[in-house]
Amino acid sequence: MCLDDFQAFNRRMTERGDEAFANPRNAASGSLRQLNSTITASRPLVVTCYEIMALSGSAPLTHWDELEQLAQWGLPIPTPEYRKLCASIDEVTAFHREMESRRDQLPYEIDGMVVKVNRRDWQSRLGMKSRSPRWAIAFKFAPRKEITVVQDIVVSVGRTGTLTPVALLKPVEVGGVTISRATLHNADEVARKDIRVGDTVKVERAGDVIPAIAERVPVPGEQRRTPFCMPDHCPVCGSTVGREGAYFYCTGQSVCGAQLKGTVEHFASKHAINIDGLGKKTVAQLIDKQLVQSLADLYRLKRDDLLKLDGFADRSTTLLLESIAGSKAVSLDRFLLGLGIRQVGQHIAKVLAREFGSLDHIMSADRERFLQIREIGPEISESLVAYWSEPHNREVIAQLQQSGVQIAPGMATGDQTTRPLTGKTFVFTGGLDHFTRDSAQEMVEAAGARVASSVSKNTSYVVVGRDPGSKLDQARMLGVTILTEQEFASLIGKDERGIS
Ligand SMILES: [Zn+2]
Repeated sequence: MCLDDFQAFNRRMTERGDEAFANPRNAASGSLRQLNSTITASRPLVVTCYEIMALSGSAPLTHWDELEQLAQWGLPIPTPEYRKLCASIDEVTAFHREMESRRDQLPYEIDGMVVKVNRRDWQSRLGMKSRSPRWAIAFKFAPRKEITVVQDIVVSVGRTGTLTPVALLKPVEVGGVTISRATLHNADEVARKDIRVGDTVKVERAGDVIPAIAERVPVPGEQRRTPFCMPDHCPVCGSTVGREGAYFYCTGQSVCGAQLKGTVEHFASKHAINIDGLGKKTVAQLIDKQLVQSLADLYRLKRDDLLKLDGFADRSTTLLLESIAGSKAVSLDRFLLGLGIRQVGQHIAKVLAREFGSLDHIMSADRERFLQIREIGPEISESLVAYWSEPHNREVIAQLQQSGVQIAPGMATGDQTTRPLTGKTFVFTGGLDHFTRDSAQEMVEAAGARVASSVSKNTSYVVVGRDPGSKLDQARMLGVTILTEQEFASLIGKDERGIS
């Protein structure tokens, strides 16, 4: 995509309210990836041919002749000033230098050139590496760098809540594209490069990479501002900012507007609250149309709201409303998982539910209390404390409960005597006829035991279903007790008949 066409095309996209492309390369590849070929056809793309993949009859003897042959057939090939037949490597480097100095005059962007062995018989003797030929190599240009000024440093909040410092720059043209912002990656990087508001900096853009600040350019006699600090509160939702290594994140997982799509998708997902029919696309529509601005809004959706969405008719609306209503009764571990607390996955959610039994107990626990639990280390306990100390998160939970969400107490109480299989480890192999893997796992955990994915000498039982895998052999080798599905059902206290 030529630069002029790219700029005109981006202007049209922006005017239509679509997101502009960062550079011609992204615009071209995005256009080719369209499923609808009429859209691709409408984009200002051009093509250049450079190789004949298959040919019957006599083939050209050199790469140069191959290009000439393509041109004779009327196919577009690189114009003469963009290619050169060189007799030595010195000629190659001289041409490379020449092209690099001319790259700003080219109508399209290039990030280097390709050097090829001309003789085709030598090409076939050199052959291929796994993904590229040995007779052709990319000879890149140095990344472009331009000097500009940092006008401000703002913090953007990503979909997962990570805070990224972004430099707002005095707009500068770097290789035909105007750059007005550059990522600073994280706080450590800002400190390492010592970038402050008002600084003069060198910006670089290599290939299709997001523009970045290469380095600060000291200016004699300059009065520098104070060093950049990450904010204490999320710029989007005002929640407290937490820290994990070099990364800062918004602790308001359940309330933050920047994270809302991810939060709602996760909340509704199969292993969490499990709202059938609330997939990624529907979540995006609900949020874009501002029908859902917090998790609790899900439970306030009306039939008329859903009918406004693309692809929703009477029946699908009824089904979604039913599954939302059905999700109101939820077990504690699924609810915890659904909140999307950092570091709290399925396993930890279950551990917490089993250990504490109720949401109130978890919400009032402190760091030391979390650390008493074998599975919970400093990072998880840190993340839990950060989550519960954010009042916004507590508010969302109160709203959910007001909307009718009922959290059933933990899968078992803290009383060890009611859990006959405490401390045992189960491994499953092969298909079960009467239980799903998930339900079998839940029963095992309710009985105080846990499920592992591989067999070791610490495994208590291996449950063998249809077509077992190598885990059965390992169990035999290690002398682990092997159970049939029926034996498993009676051990766990479930009559397998009647359970499907
Ligand atoms: Zn936030």
